[in-house]
Amino acid sequence: MEYEVTIGLEVHAQILTASKMFCGCSAEYASAAPNTHVCPICLGLPGALPVINQHAIELAGLTGLALNCQIASDNTISRKNYFYPDLPASYQRTQYDDPICVAGWVDLDGPEGTKRIGLTRVHIEEDTGKRIHQADGSTLVDFNRAGVPLMEIVSEPDIASPDEAKRFFQKLRQTLIWIGVNTGNMEEGALRCDANISVRPKGQAKYGSKVEIKNMNSFRAVERALIYEVERQIKELDAGNSIPQSTRGWSEAESRTKLQRIKESSDDYRYFPEPDIPPLALTANWVAERQTELPELPDARKTRFVAQYGISAYEAETLADLRIDADYFERAVAAAAASGATPRDVANWISGELFRLLKDTSEDLAAVEQRFPPTYIGQVQSLLNSGTITRTSAKEVFEASFRSGQAPSDVVAERGLAQIGAGDALSALARAAIVGNPKSVGDYHSGKVAAIKFLVGQVMRASKGQANPQAAQEALERELSV
Ligand SMILES: [Zn+2]
Repeated sequence: MEYEVTIGLEVHAQILTASKMFCGCSAEYASAAPNTHVCPICLGLPGALPVINQHAIELAGLTGLALNCQIASDNTISRKNYFYPDLPASYQRTQYDDPICVAGWVDLDGPEGTKRIGLTRVHIEEDTGKRIHQADGSTLVDFNRAGVPLMEIVSEPDIASPDEAKRFFQKLRQTLIWIGVNTGNMEEGALRCDANISVRPKGQAKYGSKVEIKNMNSFRAVERALIYEVERQIKELDAGNSIPQSTRGWSEAESRTKLQRIKESSDDYRYFPEPDIPPLALTANWVAERQTELPELPDARKTRFVAQYGISAYEAETLADLRIDADYFERAVAAAAASGATPRDVANWISGELFRLLKDTSEDLAAVEQRFPPTYIGQVQSLLNSGTITRTSAKEVFEASFRSGQAPSDVVAERGLAQIGAGDALSALARAAIVGNPKSVGDYHSGKVAAIKFLVGQVMRASKGQANPQAAQEALERELSV
């Protein structure tokens, strides 16, 4: 029997604000000592009154626009009731039937063209605290994270494979980082993903029963957990068993999903509107303001890079993966124009040497930009174009500049890298190569003209790459003819 797979993702993304969702406590939880960023509101103490974080709402609205959603003018915060040790109020403030953003989409580029994945909704909620299990079996609770602003981004069941799920999640992460609403840090839990997956015989109209998978903390985990679950469900169906609607957790250590609970319905949570927070009314003006804050998004920027700068789609993709890289590239292009370096030269230096060095040093461009400004890229290319340095030296200059922050022309002066183009220095190197390699000289004189290539190599090596190969060959021909 052939089966088809249906996947929908629920992505939880912390909203990058200074303070928590309903109180003034700092939203920084990872580096602070446990239970230091807490107050009566986020500890759920009786009588404490929440105040909504306006900036968090603005960032959620911005996210909705970046994801092609409609922004709802009226939306409310509800209470979702359940008991958990890291949820001090025994309810979570979240949005239920009227979320802030609805009906968006994400376009995925793949081998078969562009696939559009629909988004059902983006809603606002608060994060829970964190449990820390001890070796002696006890559990500690840290409430620093309780009340940190969170968005839940829910896709339509439009995803047809584990690979597509992974790429969707990657694209979402890229967009959230790009617009500055989330750090993308999955290790710290700032971005997390659950998946709903079902399998049905090919052609069957009704979906199979939905299994929710939790605890996937990396792109790899999302893909592996879903591959495992597809195989598990197909095996069950082939054996004539039914799949219960349930929640399962991914165990990285055991490479499998494990049953956690048979799924509860939303009735079990007894949602009701939060009585302490009035409904939010978002005006058309408010939405228009968010629209002005929305930067050019990755796909649009890639398309523009190809059209405007004549670089390849692949290079554009590399340069516009992170917004900071794309900004750096464009500043470098603008600065390089005066020195005669083309956008393609600049793209080559950045996607080649600069990205290699950043990977080597594990630095990010934000930190490096202070010492290695985008103007340096054009300066290196200009030294190369003017013949001041050779291509080999240019790479050395680039790297030295990157590491020390010295201007490229200063590196050239300090290291004496200016090209040996002609004159006595080059003639002396040519004579030394002739004296040192009588066999090649003999070959050359007996008609094997190609033997001179070897001698050129010797001159280049003796000059430590500073000789111009063309000039070296001319000097050798001159010396060999006397
Ligand atoms: Zn607080």
